[in-house]
Amino acid sequence: MIDFEVLVRDGAARRARLVTAHGAVETPVFMPLATTGTVKAMTSEAVAATGARIVLGNTYHLMLRPGAERIAALGGLHRFMNWPHAILTDSGGFQVMSLASRRTIGEAGVTFRSHLDGSLHELTPERSVAIQHLLGADITMALDECTLHPSSPEAVQRATELTMRWAERSRHAFVERPGHGVFGIVQGGIDPDLRLRATARLIEIGFDGYAVGGLAVGEGQETMFSVLAATVPALPEDRPRYLMGVGKPADLVGAVLRGVDMFDCVLPTRSGRTAQAFTRHGTVNLRNARHADDPSPLDPECGCPACAGSGYSRAYLHHLCRSGEILGSMLLTAHNLRYYADLMAGMRAAIETGSLADFAADFASSQ
Ligand SMILES: [Zn+2]
Repeated sequence: MIDFEVLVRDGAARRARLVTAHGAVETPVFMPLATTGTVKAMTSEAVAATGARIVLGNTYHLMLRPGAERIAALGGLHRFMNWPHAILTDSGGFQVMSLASRRTIGEAGVTFRSHLDGSLHELTPERSVAIQHLLGADITMALDECTLHPSSPEAVQRATELTMRWAERSRHAFVERPGHGVFGIVQGGIDPDLRLRATARLIEIGFDGYAVGGLAVGEGQETMFSVLAATVPALPEDRPRYLMGVGKPADLVGAVLRGVDMFDCVLPTRSGRTAQAFTRHGTVNLRNARHADDPSPLDPECGCPACAGSGYSRAYLHHLCRSGEILGSMLLTAHNLRYYADLMAGMRAAIETGSLADFAADFASSQ
């Protein structure tokens, strides 16, 4: 069981607090990806310094290397990666579908070959939950089958129904511990009726939180928002809602307005390694030659190590990115995660004063 308290409402948006075995998480929140047990290019201390209090680890990657049993023997994932705050692990379902080769999906689970060495593995709902327990995840995700967009209505329906059966088995396999919870995942593609049926079934099973999966897979922002508008109001008011794999800053603002509490996305960290910076005035490509002679900071209002004081200029960041220097990835990842953390903190403060609509309007005009 995991505590979740809604503190303030502003329209459909909520300002809430999730209390895990590894501390409280203020929501709405963005969770940086620590896929293989590391937020790429960042120390755990640097991740915490961006304001993050929860990161996301990955069952698929960690079961293959270094192995869940090994991490458990070393004291769990928190100790292994020297991260004292909360961890959510995803079930491995999405990575099996997108990375593994020669996969076979059946009622029992999915068998696949590792993308690392071709070795054969099986992931069932029970094994996924057991791996997440070995890792010591504060929040465990039920195993799901995610379809990509576009998929045929028959394929989406079949995957959604399998996901609901796997959800029940995942819930049953989860071992209750104080401060730990298990979330179900609503699938259903872009079909509102299927989404509502999946939602009703998951609520019947009963989870600590509810995730909306299978979005931001190519359907476009307008379709994503319409699926959220149809799905989120059907989710329990008193439980956290997590939109998986989303997204761009504008997606986060739109989804918080529609009542979503939690997010994860590869964008701020991956962009940090490809010279893309998110700022209060839109995205900046530091490889662009116009930065070569610019002595000004990336964003004078940002408190990250790349921007604070007058230490690092756009010209220097440009030089690091053009030279492929590791420091460029480190500074831009720190900056992007700080930008995302500040964006979420800004939304939390706006909800507290009942001004999220104004915040969203200001945000839209600044981009
Ligand atoms: Zn910065």
